[in-house]
Amino acid sequence: MSRTQTDRCPGVLTVHQAADGGLARVRLPGGVVRADQFDVLRTAAAELGDGRLELTSRANVQIRGLAPDAPVELSQRLFEAGLLPSLPHERVRNILASPLSGLDQDSRYDVLPVAAAVDRDLCARPGLAELPRRFLFALDDGRGDLAGVRADVLVRAVDERDGLLRLGTRGVRVGWGEVAEVMVAAAEAFLEEREGQEWRITELERGEERILDRLGLHAAEELPSTSSVVQAGQHGSGLVVTVPLGSLNQEQAAGVAAAARGGAGVIRVTPWRSVVVQGVSGEELERVGLVTDPDSAWNGVTACAGQPGCAKALADVRADARRVTPRLPRHERPIHWSGCERRCGKPAGEFVDVLAVGNGYVIDGERMGTW
Ligand code: SF4
Repeated sequence: MSRTQTDRCPGVLTVHQAADGGLARVRLPGGVVRADQFDVLRTAAAELGDGRLELTSRANVQIRGLAPDAPVELSQRLFEAGLLPSLPHERVRNILASPLSGLDQDSRYDVLPVAAAVDRDLCARPGLAELPRRFLFALDDGRGDLAGVRADVLVRAVDERDGLLRLGTRGVRVGWGEVAEVMVAAAEAFLEEREGQEWRITELERGEERILDRLGLHAAEELPSTSSVVQAGQHGSGLVVTVPLGSLNQEQAAGVAAAARGGAGVIRVTPWRSVVVQGVSGEELERVGLVTDPDSAWNGVTACAGQPGCAKALADVRADARRVTPRLPRHERPIHWSGCERRCGKPAGEFVDVLAVGNGYVIDGERMGTW
């Protein structure tokens, strides 16, 4: 495959220059971050960036608005907090895990320790620092919440004994004791089979077959078709808290860290612009504008950076979404606001397409004028 585009996924050491300053993306394998680490991120956003923490669709955190000399200071702070365990691997630690894993009855297996093991194994192999930044690992605890994610290497829990490894269209059972090793070996096999600039296994001709051959595995099982969506609210011992537009201000971020300190000491960032905390009531979080009501109109609403963060944006889509969303009932489809036709960050599957066109918005192809 020939590709002229370079992989520009940002990290902490490789900051993207956006219209509003530097943008750093901090990988959180499994979406897990301790409360004290979250405080380091929050303080860094206040002192070095624009004060906000953004949650991404890969359960990572972004800080934007960085001055030219800020990334060095930021990387030192994150290194000391244990958020950069391997500098060469920082942009390839792309590992999703079901955020309610081990917390409620829909969880067939607690996959978070497996996600941590994949991260450790990945960082221990120097060659894997060469993985494309788009390459994605995912661990679904059996509920199907990550079934729709375009992961390169996905394992879905079958039961306490096995997970189903999926690289493409079919699955192969692997015992939990071997899952982390097999997932990392699949990534190594991808690098060995890669012929050019492929970023994903699906871009490699007969990629699934060739990688499984290298691993000595034979995929035969049908993949489960069931999927589920994690809603805001209480799920067993986990409280899912929707973060409007995935952007936490200082007060909200401090509230999330305090809630985590009062519970398990850990925050689980989800791929759906929400966080999971344990052992707390949602009242304090609601008070600072976060959402624990599954019927809130904020659930499922996303937006790209828009103005002033992106030079291509035709509108301040986030400000418009903040103005309009509280007036609307919850929509059955996700709603995505885009500042231009690239539609960055759009959800997978069907969604309500709110597109800025310069002097108003077009919604699902119909012009709506100015909101
Ligand atoms: S969709 Fe357009 S305006 Fe929005 S972040 Fe992407 S390039 Fe910028």
